[in-house]
Amino acid sequence: MPLLELTDLSVNYGAIQAVRNLSLTVEPGEIVTLIGANGAGKTTTLRAISRMLRARSGRITFDGHDLSRASPDAAVKYGIAQSPEGRQVLARQSIADNLELGAYIRNDTAGIQADVRRMYEHFPRLGERRNQLAGTLSGGEQQMLAIARALMSRPKLLLLDEPSLGLAPIIVLEIFSIIKELNAQGVTILLVEQNARLAMQSSHRTYVMEAGQVTFSGRSAELVDDQRVLHAYLGG
Ligand code: ATP
Repeated sequence: MPLLELTDLSVNYGAIQAVRNLSLTVEPGEIVTLIGANGAGKTTTLRAISRMLRARSGRITFDGHDLSRASPDAAVKYGIAQSPEGRQVLARQSIADNLELGAYIRNDTAGIQADVRRMYEHFPRLGERRNQLAGTLSGGEQQMLAIARALMSRPKLLLLDEPSLGLAPIIVLEIFSIIKELNAQGVTILLVEQNARLAMQSSHRTYVMEAGQVTFSGRSAELVDDQRVLHAYLGG
C-alpha cells in the first residue's frame, strides 16, 4: 500500500487551476521527485498534501487515512512534515527555539529534548550555534535548520520544497547527501526541486508536471537522460 496517494487532485486559486486531476503515489521508503517549470504547480501540490491549501476535488490518502478534508495540524499528527520553499525559519528566534517549534504538536518534553540533541548530533553546525538567532545562519545552515525543524515532528513523510534554492553548488551537494542519509534512515521523502538532474540522480522515481498536470513519470534513473523531461523542465 502506498504511504501517500493522490487521486485526481485539483487545486484552484480563484479562477486559476493550479493543479489539475493530479494522481501520484509515494511508497514507504522512497524518495520521489516532482519536477517541472516555474508555475507548473509543484508547490501547490505540496501545500495541498500538508493541508495548507484546500483541494477543489480529488482525494489524498496517507498511511491509511483520508486526508482530503483534514486540517494542517491533523496532517502533522498523521506524520507529514514540510520544509517550505524559502526555508521560512524564524530569523529572530534561536536555533533551539526553531527546533522546538517543529515539535509543536508533541507534548513529550523529555522526548522533544532528546530529539533536539539528536538533531545537534546529526547537524553539528546547528549544535555549535544552538543559541544564535536563526537569521545569523548561512543559507545552507538555514536549510539544514528547516529540515531539522520538520523532522522534529517525527514525520513518516517529509515534503521538501526547493531545498537547493539559492545555495552554492557545494552546499547543494551537502544538502542532497543529507536527504539521502535521512532516507537511508527510513524517512520517506517527496522532493520538489529546480535542480532536476541532481534530484533525479538522488531519487527513486520522478513525476514531471506541466501546467498543473503530470505529463509523465517513471524511474528516475530512466528519466534522467530523457529529452522530454528536459523539455518539460525548461517550460516546453
Ligand atoms: P515555482 O517553482 O515557481 O514555485 P510551482 O511549480 O511550485 O512553481 P506553484 O507555485 O504551485 O508552481 O504555482 C502554480 C500556479 O498557481 C501558477 O500559475 C501560479 O502563478 C499560481 N499561483 C500560485 N500561488 C498563487 C496564489 N497565492 N494566488 C494565485 N495564484 C497562485
